[in-house]
Amino acid sequence: MRASSVEQIIIETLSKEHAHLTSQQVFEIIRKRLPAVNQSTVYRALTRLVDSGKVSVSDMGTKAVVYELLTDGLHHHLVCQKCRQIMTIGHEEVEDFFGDLQLKNHFQIVTNHLILFGICENCQVGTNTNTEEM
Ligand SMILES: [Zn+2]
Ligand SMILES: [Zn+2]
Repeated sequence: MRASSVEQIIIETLSKEHAHLTSQQVFEIIRKRLPAVNQSTVYRALTRLVDSGKVSVSDMGTKAVVYELLTDGLHHHLVCQKCRQIMTIGHEEVEDFFGDLQLKNHFQIVTNHLILFGICENCQVGTNTNTEEM
């Protein structure tokens, strides 16, 4: 099986699912279409897609990193550490900040899926007394 066809199926899968998936989840979906595929093939294909900028890879505070297809511009997330709610923000909200950092530090940012952890509005009630886990 050609590596590029695995990549193509991963892209189709990620665009259909429209979600953040772990490599394990991607593998399980792909296996239904390609029963002969093995996990390391899927993992390597995902890595190539990340390297080529087609797919983002992020640690969203769950045990495994998640992959997402990068389509129609960049987006980022605010993740609540208490209820795990994920908010999505547009790239325009961080564009100026990224721009400043790049100028000041002569640094070219390649982060294409920024994850900021915090506490959402609902969970801010009683934050001081209730800081279990993480
Ligand atoms: Zn995302
Ligand atoms: Zn919350």
